[in-house]
Amino acid sequence: MSGRLGVWPTVAARLRLFVNGIFFLFFPADCRVCIEPLLQASRLPVCQSCRDWVAPIEGDLCPVCGERLFSFCPTALSPSDAITGSTPCGLCHRVLPPYARAVAYGTFEHALRSTIHLLKYDRVMPAADFLGLKLGVAMAKLRVSDPTAVDGDSWLVIPVPLHSSKLRQRGFNQAELIARAALRNAAWRHLELETRVLVRHRETVSQAGLTRHQRRKNIRGAFQVRKPDLVKGKDILLVDDVFTTGATVSECARVLLRAGAHSVFVATVARALKAERVLHPMLAVEAAA
Ligand SMILES: [Zn+2]
Ligand SMILES: [Zn+2]
Repeated sequence: MSGRLGVWPTVAARLRLFVNGIFFLFFPADCRVCIEPLLQASRLPVCQSCRDWVAPIEGDLCPVCGERLFSFCPTALSPSDAITGSTPCGLCHRVLPPYARAVAYGTFEHALRSTIHLLKYDRVMPAADFLGLKLGVAMAKLRVSDPTAVDGDSWLVIPVPLHSSKLRQRGFNQAELIARAALRNAAWRHLELETRVLVRHRETVSQAGLTRHQRRKNIRGAFQVRKPDLVKGKDILLVDDVFTTGATVSECARVLLRAGAHSVFVATVARALKAERVLHPMLAVEAAA
C-alpha cells in the first residue's frame, strides 16, 4: 500500500490525536449527537440509538450522480411513479458528469453529519472506523466489488486530497482515514490506496454556502495529477466524506481522466440530497422528438 507519507504531517498533530483518543477512552460522557448520557464506554462517543439512525439512502436515485429523483409528470401517481431506476436526474440528463457513477451511504444529516463533524473538526479519530464501515457499504454498490471486472488489474483508491496548509492545520485528511478504515475489510483486497498521485495545489475558500455554479468556479484548477504514469489506463475510485453538489469530485475526475485514467467512480459516506427533478419517460420521448 502506497502513500503512507502525509497522513501524520507533524509530531504535534500525532500527539494531539493520541491524547484525544486516551481522553475519550477513559472519560466517557454524553453522546455527542443527542447529548443523552452514554451507557457504556466507547471510543466513539455516540450512543447506540444515534448509531442506529445512520442508515443507507433509500428510494429512487439517479443512476449517475446518486441524487434523489422525483417525477414531475402530472399523471404520475407518486413521486417515484414510472421512474425505472435507469433514468438520470435532470442535471445529469443535461450534462453528464466526468465520473462514471457516484454512490453514497447515507444522507448528510443528523447522526451521520454529526459523526463526520466529530472526525473532521473535533478529531474524534474512532469515528473514522465507523464511517469506513459505511463507506464500504456504499462501495459495494459499484462494480469495484468485482475483482474480475477490470481483467484482474487492481483499482486505485484515491481520497480527495486537502491542500497542504489545510492538512497541516487539521493534522489528517479525513477522506484518507475513512478510506483506510474501509480498505481494512478483506473484501477490498484488490483495491490499492494511492495518496501521492492527486494533489490539491491551489488553496480554495470553503465550498460551504456557495451555489453550485460558485462551487464549480471555486474548485476549477485546484487539483493536479503529479504522477500521470500511475493513473494511465487505471480504473479509479475517488473517496470523500461528503458529496454536496459533486463539484469537487467532478474536478478531480476531470484531471484524472485528462491524465489518462480509464474510468473514475466516486464513493462517499454521505450525500446532501436535494431531490432532483427527472423528466417522466413519456415526456422525455416527446421532448426528444
Ligand atoms: Zn445519541
Ligand atoms: Zn444525476
